[in-house]
Amino acid sequence: MKKEKTPMPEQQPQERIKNFNEVALGYNEEQAIEEAERCLQCKVPKCTEGCPVEIDIKSFIKLITRKDFSSALEKIREKNSLPAICGRVCPQEDQCEKKCILGIRNEPVAIGRLERFVADWNDKNKNDPGSSKKSDDSLENAFAELERIHDGNGNKNLNINVQKLQKKARIAVVGSGPAGLTCAGELAKMGYGITIFEALHESGGVLVYGIPEFRLPKSILKKEVEFVKNLGVEIITNALVGNTYTLEDLFGAGYKAIFIATGAGLPYFMGIPGENLNGVYSANEFLTRNNLMKAYLFPEYDTPIKKVKNFAVVGAGNVAMDSARTAKRLGAEKVYLIYRRTEKEMPARIEEIEHAKQEGIIFHILSNPVEIIGEDSFVEKVRCIRMELGEPDSSGRRSPVPVPGSEFEIEAQAIIMAIGQGPNPLLLKKIPGLGLTRKGNIIADEKTCRTNIKGIFAAGDIVSGAATVILAMGGGKKAAISINDYINSGIW
Ligand code: FAD
Ligand code: SF4
Repeated sequence: MKKEKTPMPEQQPQERIKNFNEVALGYNEEQAIEEAERCLQCKVPKCTEGCPVEIDIKSFIKLITRKDFSSALEKIREKNSLPAICGRVCPQEDQCEKKCILGIRNEPVAIGRLERFVADWNDKNKNDPGSSKKSDDSLENAFAELERIHDGNGNKNLNINVQKLQKKARIAVVGSGPAGLTCAGELAKMGYGITIFEALHESGGVLVYGIPEFRLPKSILKKEVEFVKNLGVEIITNALVGNTYTLEDLFGAGYKAIFIATGAGLPYFMGIPGENLNGVYSANEFLTRNNLMKAYLFPEYDTPIKKVKNFAVVGAGNVAMDSARTAKRLGAEKVYLIYRRTEKEMPARIEEIEHAKQEGIIFHILSNPVEIIGEDSFVEKVRCIRMELGEPDSSGRRSPVPVPGSEFEIEAQAIIMAIGQGPNPLLLKKIPGLGLTRKGNIIADEKTCRTNIKGIFAAGDIVSGAATVILAMGGGKKAAISINDYINSGIW
């Protein structure tokens, strides 16, 4: 048995920095079977324990060795409705693969790559439609009702009640990221009528506006969203809850429970001098311009984005790696990544760090910006200070401490801040009495996702703070079970 994972075919670095096509190309059948055969089929497998949605990993891998790729997909879908996405972006090295028993002496089984293979194979060969169940026509479209809540003059008419038009309880989901999509999909499978309200014009949350095409092709996301829609979920885009509709509107329109999955979309800045200069972006804005608003497809799309000689990106998570690699593809000569700890502490997926290095991103570790310097209000350079690692902080990671007198400057005409995101307060401010943490995240019970307000549930990044796709999905799943219990209890 091979000690190492079967390598993943990839676009070569010199080629891929000139395009936005997917970097990792995926296993073919032979490679997938070869990798699946490395699995020990452990009597007591540990891999599933490491999976936040508890996929029966051993079984789906066995099905791959038997070339039964359709059944392998069915096995995954029992627990995970977004396998093509998770196979691409989950931090498997910290989850299933970290627990894999084979990994004690050798490289663990490439579980993520196999998950992706199964999803892609079915997509190519079976035109995997997911469930063929379409929206229940007997359920009147709740959107029409909500439209009628606002009469032509913008006045609200709250007497309209969607419930009388339909057979089953309807649930509203706010936000179409992985938490919202998962909760919606699970509830739809249980027979509820689900409407997702999404503020943006496209569904998918961070998966559509944050993660770039070269890591997660949007065609894949579209198919996964289609799968959820085919379960009977309706998605209303351009609907900013808290503004377009209030929660009272939704309850008034007959929704029996509301699931809030609005994510962590509010970018943090460092609060250093020069941060308001022209050319300083939040990663959120930079990536949204490029991914959602397709700046990279100029001139077909005319979304403005800076194309400068040198970019500097601050941070070392997935968001920072995505920003740096996007900047490179936009034609930057040099892209610097500035991080105050060492590579060992970088929160990004290992694969993204490796890919960034291969693409020529220049890492300035143990460095921290102290000032952004500009001329005529445009960024020219960033002044940094060297850091060293001191005592561990509350997260267990050693705290970076500035080294006095070690300042240095990096020339860059655009700076991207990728130092974290918090909850957007827009909707939360409009829910009087909703329990929030000091950082502004919703307080929700870990098991039931219940908030302190009856009928309102929450999960995903809006509760946990910026985390991962699979944890958001796990939250969405728990919320669905809990909402079902709540509705069945009859106390609403
Ligand atoms: P989100 O995905 O943020 O979705 C929230 C949705 O709610 C958004 O579509 C938003 O428009 C909508 N919304 C907000 N407010 C309202 C409102 N008032 N009304 C209606 N809609 C509203 N995780 C990984 O596991 N692997 C990765 O490789 C990875 N890379 C990442 C790269 C980037 C650039 C970013 C930003 C994050 C990355 N993450 C990654 C983190 C991961 O994407 C998030 O943890 C996950 O998307 C959170 O899901 P969510 O459903 O809670 O929220
Ligand atoms: Fe296979 Fe690793 Fe799971 Fe064991 S722990 S069943 S080797 S994937």
